[in-house]
Amino acid sequence: MSHDKDNIMVVVSSPSGVGKTTLTKKIQQKYETFKISVSHTTRSPRSNEIDGVDYHFITDKKFKELVKQKKFYEYAKIFDNYYGTLKETVDTVIKNNDIIFDIDWQGNKQLSKFKNLKLIKIFLIAKNKEELRKRLVKRNQNTLEEIEKRLNAFEKDIKNWIDYDYVIINENLDACFKQIENIISSNKKNSIFLS
Ligand code: 5GP
Repeated sequence: MSHDKDNIMVVVSSPSGVGKTTLTKKIQQKYETFKISVSHTTRSPRSNEIDGVDYHFITDKKFKELVKQKKFYEYAKIFDNYYGTLKETVDTVIKNNDIIFDIDWQGNKQLSKFKNLKLIKIFLIAKNKEELRKRLVKRNQNTLEEIEKRLNAFEKDIKNWIDYDYVIINENLDACFKQIENIISSNKKNSIFLS
């Protein structure tokens, strides 16, 4: 994979429920150079999700075919479903845009192997497990069983902060967004963020 030398790739990972999706969408809305990498997944769409916008929702069979054909830069099994980043999507988007990857630590590890990529890796965490529980309950997207699974994954997930360039505790969404903007502006040449 090669890309325009001025375009950057920002990986944002976090344990589920820390606010990553809200933050990545906020960046895309404010800065039109940024596109979110739309992943493929075998998970069922939630009621507010649109196929092709939030994810490309595909069957297990199709996902396995794409794996076999080596179409993904990275993929992982998370909470019983597969998620992956298609090479073709990234290669097309990076020609004219910056990219944000909303992917987990396993995907980050795999993408990091491409040493020619200008990756900026940000890890978001909640203040503690109790805070995370509150967010997951409030967001109302998961069953109690799913919430327990996500809480159990929290401790394992946060151990992976070591693979990232920046770690941010998301206590306040606006402050966290500002920190991400600062990180991007300090990494992007000719930055529109500097003004
Ligand atoms: P959700 O099902 O809540 O949308 O996402 C669950 C987790 O999957 C999140 O941590 C999200 O960052 C991660 N994820 C989404 N797309 C990808 C992907 O393409 N690759 C990897 N490795 N993780 C992904």
